[in-house]
Amino acid sequence: MKVGLIDVDGHNFPSLPLMKISAYHKSNGDSVEWYNPLTAWISPPDRVYMSKVFTFTPDYQYPVNADEIIKGGTGYSYPDGGAELASEIEHIYPDYSIYYEKIPAVRNTAYGFLTRGCPRGCDFCIVGAKEGKCTKKVAELREFWNGQKNIVLLDANMFACKDWRELSVQLIDSGAWVNFSQGCDIRIMTEEKTEYIARMKIKRIHFAWDRYEDKKEIIPQFEKFKAFTKWGKEKLGVYVLCNFNTTFEQDLERIYMLRDMGYNPYVMLYEKEKIPRGHRLRKMQRWVNNRIIFGSCKRFEDFDERKGHG
Ligand code: SF4
Repeated sequence: MKVGLIDVDGHNFPSLPLMKISAYHKSNGDSVEWYNPLTAWISPPDRVYMSKVFTFTPDYQYPVNADEIIKGGTGYSYPDGGAELASEIEHIYPDYSIYYEKIPAVRNTAYGFLTRGCPRGCDFCIVGAKEGKCTKKVAELREFWNGQKNIVLLDANMFACKDWRELSVQLIDSGAWVNFSQGCDIRIMTEEKTEYIARMKIKRIHFAWDRYEDKKEIIPQFEKFKAFTKWGKEKLGVYVLCNFNTTFEQDLERIYMLRDMGYNPYVMLYEKEKIPRGHRLRKMQRWVNNRIIFGSCKRFEDFDERKGHG
């Protein structure tokens, strides 16, 4: 069988489903290549898989010529993410090699989920609908890691899983640089969990402060974690959800407080595509998320985009 792959909207981030699909087909002796709209008219693939992550990005712009087309991902099936991969594909070691040219970092990096799901059920988040409202272990680390120097975890809330100790030990023993790329839940952080995290080789850990009303509960948690690890802000990212149910003043307050506690805030705009160009929320995002500008310009009012800094 001749298989074509289309990563519709992945930019600098590999598609885990496509890497697993590639591994599965290659293990069956099929040929797998990135779909090429020019050659496909001469020699069309038997099957094309299209993966789309975001709902607001444009769809693939060329006609797809194949006997069968399978579309997947949240970008096509919001909010549930569509059909799950069959178990023999979901649990296969990903074929990272398909991204070696597009994203060179993939040569040294393993990507995957140790757990799925989250018990929180936040209104703005699709994890509960997509993965379930309980965090469950879904893989051992070796399922997607084979000695790479770096591990990028995609788990939504690993420390809400009852198996967090065992999974943490796997990460510690790997000796690899670990990046918790999604927002870990600082509200459920305990001293014991922090100790385990501190024993990992952490490249970066991301938390989230999405709800302004969590202020009283969340600030001591951030302070305790910082005091225990003593890590610099380059390791400590915090996603700050804006444009959902907070005021602009509450957004700035969270940003300033996080910075003052020694964390790197990172603004996430809810339904960004609906925010008009030139809106101050977009400006605030450009200010905060550019580390050089945010480091040199202390206050939003002083941020002058024409100069590029404050
Ligand atoms: S805690 Fe995070 S992952 Fe869980 S539902 Fe809320 S936003 Fe989603």
